[in-house]
Amino acid sequence: MTQAEILQWLQLFATKIAENKDYLTELDAAIGDADHGINMDRGWKKVSSQLPTLADKDISSIFKTVSMTLISSIGGASGPLYGTWFLRASTAVAGKQELTAQDILGLLQAGLEGVLQRGKAQLGDKTMVDALSPAVEKFGEAVGGGKNLQEALQEAVAAAEQGMKETTPMLARKGRASYLGERSVGHQDPGATSAYLMLQSLLAVVEA
Ligand code: ADP
Ligand code: MG
Ligand code: MG
Repeated sequence: MTQAEILQWLQLFATKIAENKDYLTELDAAIGDADHGINMDRGWKKVSSQLPTLADKDISSIFKTVSMTLISSIGGASGPLYGTWFLRASTAVAGKQELTAQDILGLLQAGLEGVLQRGKAQLGDKTMVDALSPAVEKFGEAVGGGKNLQEALQEAVAAAEQGMKETTPMLARKGRASYLGERSVGHQDPGATSAYLMLQSLLAVVEA
């Protein structure tokens, strides 16, 4: 992936968040405080407005700026979590002008590790981790098995979608939804849904 494709990915994700703002907020209304779409859209509109100023920056600096913007503009749990994801991704790709499938694996792993350390959620706690973690695992297996970036991302996105759907019957153990206890069961997690959209946007740019 080139730096230009990375910028396209960030723009596409910002657009998808805007399109799904109400949907993400409705999901959060069921088990949280009805602001996930609003939070994400606030942050990603800000990122989108900054993208023209990042046109000549390297990939690592672009991710760093995205991280700072998300942390400073998204109120709520998702700001620091996505901010940490992009901060770790920034470090993982330091000095690289283009990203191979192996580099993408490195950034996906680093981003997930950051979220796990920051949020302390485990698989099955009904969070964004339930979409991100199976996606990283599938991506790693596919790349290890010799698949190309597009094929590996297709498998990762399918795993993220399945992981997202599997949050519905889960009992929330982290974040606001955990305050609901048993009443959190039967609703899809908003953060797992936005995380799926993030990976889906990445695939769409690679497929284009
Ligand atoms: P808030 O809950 O502060 O209003 P958002 O609504 O923007 O923040 O984000 C909620 C999402 O954040 C949840 O759906 C969940 O996926 C994710 N989340 C919350 N806490 C954690 C955590 N500790 N680890 C990972 N993800 C989390
Ligand atoms: Mg919320
Ligand atoms: Mg909130």
